[in-house]
Amino acid sequence: MELVVGCRSCGHQWVQKVTLETDSPFVCPKCGQAAGWQLFNCSQCKKTFVPEPVGDPPRLPIIPSCPTCGQAASPAAESDIAKAGAQ
Ligand SMILES: [Zn+2]
Ligand SMILES: [Zn+2]
Repeated sequence: MELVVGCRSCGHQWVQKVTLETDSPFVCPKCGQAAGWQLFNCSQCKKTFVPEPVGDPPRLPIIPSCPTCGQAASPAAESDIAKAGAQ
């Protein structure tokens, strides 16, 4: 399966292949930090964001809320990845 992932360190977004053995956080292919978490998309204000991990070991909230408008967000799709610099 594939997850759309965002880096909390540098903001890079990519599609990460995941198996039962691979788990968050993922290593960012751009900055090398283990700071990649599943990207979410707010249906209300269309903001894409990486939720703040909570707990120990850190986990994403089950249903993250949008940092901008507070609405419940859903996992981002591949088409939500920011295409900055892709052209
Ligand atoms: Zn990064
Ligand atoms: Zn929102």
